[in-house]
Amino acid sequence: MQSITILGSTGSIGVNALDVISRHPEKFRIFALTCHTQTGKLLEQCRQFTPAFAVVGDEAAADQLQAHLGSAGLPTRVLAGADGLIKVSSDSRVDCVVAAIVGFAGLRPALAAASSGKRLLLANKEALVTAGHLFMRAVEAGKSQLIPLDSEHSAIFQALPHRDSSGPDVSAVRRMILTASGGPFREASLEDIRNATPEQAIAHPNWSMGRKISVDSATMMNKGLEVIEARWLFNMPVDKIEVVVHPESVIHSMVEFGDGAVLAQLGDHDMRGPIAYGLGFPERIHSGAAYLDFPRLKRLRFEAPDFQRFPCLRLAFEALRSGEWAAVVLNAANEVAVAAFLDRQIGFLDIPRVIEDTLSLIPGCDIGSLDDIDRIDAEARARALVCCGGASGRSGVRL
Ligand code: NAD
Ligand code: MG
Repeated sequence: MQSITILGSTGSIGVNALDVISRHPEKFRIFALTCHTQTGKLLEQCRQFTPAFAVVGDEAAADQLQAHLGSAGLPTRVLAGADGLIKVSSDSRVDCVVAAIVGFAGLRPALAAASSGKRLLLANKEALVTAGHLFMRAVEAGKSQLIPLDSEHSAIFQALPHRDSSGPDVSAVRRMILTASGGPFREASLEDIRNATPEQAIAHPNWSMGRKISVDSATMMNKGLEVIEARWLFNMPVDKIEVVVHPESVIHSMVEFGDGAVLAQLGDHDMRGPIAYGLGFPERIHSGAAYLDFPRLKRLRFEAPDFQRFPCLRLAFEALRSGEWAAVVLNAANEVAVAAFLDRQIGFLDIPRVIEDTLSLIPGCDIGSLDDIDRIDAEARARALVCCGGASGRSGVRL
């Protein structure tokens, strides 16, 4: 029986993880569930899974949730804030942590799970984008088992040989090919993209996801973040990572080996597939995802990505080549710009502009510690906020 903490259980990945877990009560039990502000949803999840701990964003919300749980006769203890997240990620009673908080906020608890040797199922790609080097060192030092939940990286993880428990063997890899759906604006003109609204941007053709990653998919920054994620996860040089647009999202990514063979992983576009793979590894367990019906698929298309209409993808490749500090800036500026776009303070094409301007304003430097990352992240956020205000003639973006 594995004891599991789900960080971000009220989000899209968290809910899917609970769905898979509920199919296997003999294998998994929930130790802790967490959310930022959606305490009503967390209360419902606590009723269903009776975790030992629940964690929410602040003390007032924690007191309120504790009172509701008490009157429902539930034993769950409620904690608040960053300390609570770290406690339920590193507690000795936990075997496995699902890291599904969105954004930079998910870095510290995911690192705590890595350092304390948990099986770590990582959805929070921003953790690897901003702290890849330190993160992989923590995984190694803590003897943690890191399994990606991002569908592309899960596909690559599945396609690679596993000779021992130390992780996948990449020695014979010639290229890693990440597939991208192309998002809702794959065929849109530059003019239509310029005028895109938040509603259009979050209407993804294939996947149902949280708002931030949905906008990232529309700008293709999501694929850029995934390139950086692959670089750290598989220790791959950037020149061996490619992106191909594949609108059907049936092939979740591919690995080409030195002998010319290409191994791809295929499946329904349902995140319960990679989540079940991570939870069950090395066993394969039922996920609830639909099975492929090949005659109905008819055709699978592939296109080169368009860096003109989707400059965020270019910026991510450039940041990866510039150095670790640039990935921190890219991520911070992107989080600020996406929030401003969702808040209708800037336009869709202001997102890459804000990121590029912010990158040009922050001098390059070495990263030696988490404090360095925090400092660069904070500076980039402050600069990006100014860049957002300049675009709309307003300031005070709410995040
Ligand atoms: P979401 O917005 O649906 O959920 C985010 C979760 O994080 C919620 O439970 C929320 O309460 C919590 N959260 C938000 N801000 C927080 C903060 N400051 N402190 C603590 N908790 C906070 O997001 P999602 O779509 O589930 O994505 C989660 C992560 O997984 C992201 O990093 C995303 O890139 C990655 N991912 C998602 C998908 C997908 O299909 N949704 C696929 C691949 C990767
Ligand atoms: Mg993905």
